[in-house]
Amino acid sequence: MRIDILTVLPDLFTSWFGESIIERARSKGLVEVHVHDLRAWSTDKHRRVDDYPFGGGAGMVMQVEPIHRAITELKSQRAYDEVIYLSPDGELLGQPLANQLSTARNLILLCGHYKGVDERVREHLITREVSIGDYVLTGGELAAAVLSDAIIRLVPGVIGDETSALSDSFQDGLVAPPAYTRPADYQGWKVPDVLLSGHQARIDAWRHEQAVDRTRKRRPGLLGSGE
Ligand code: SAM
Repeated sequence: MRIDILTVLPDLFTSWFGESIIERARSKGLVEVHVHDLRAWSTDKHRRVDDYPFGGGAGMVMQVEPIHRAITELKSQRAYDEVIYLSPDGELLGQPLANQLSTARNLILLCGHYKGVDERVREHLITREVSIGDYVLTGGELAAAVLSDAIIRLVPGVIGDETSALSDSFQDGLVAPPAYTRPADYQGWKVPDVLLSGHQARIDAWRHEQAVDRTRKRRPGLLGSGE
């Protein structure tokens, strides 16, 4: 899988993508993440990529031309499954969308800034818009990092134990059951006996019950979608 990120703040991604599981995925050759400075496609002598909004009002708007030039250049090099604009009013990111995008070969993620992008970018260049929640961030970089992480950890081989990602919250319409590790008794706080029993069928049944119970209490809206 290859992800190309278009941003005016490329350095924001350095530490995140330089460490974390994403770096392991990159070094194993499972994913390529390319972060591009949108200013490289600016024709302005000051490398500006934003301008005042027509009709007045506060805030700057990202111009269509540098974004068009950037996307056109990338698309001339390979076919992209989706060109995604991170936007607060986009499709809400959930596990089903992450699952779906994890099967893509090539993705472009466009990070907005200021008041967002010229609407013509959304009309003509973008195939999908994704929001990471109903709140407004300063820019799309955090949202692109969240989306990339959610997708990349699902790429086969990225997480050491393949079953781990499958047992995470939301994969089966349930949140995850509680997890414990050593010591079995910490100052009187004990691990449930069943987990120490060695009976895998009983452990699996207990985990399923716990997941259902937690889902009912924490995310009742999920029940019925996968139970
Ligand atoms: N004027 C825009 C609005 O009201 O919808 C908000 C622009 S926001 C300050 C700047 C950029 O941050 C957006 O263009 C988008 O790329 C990104 N962004 C902000 N909140 C986001 C969210 N919840 N999900 C995804 N991207 C977001």
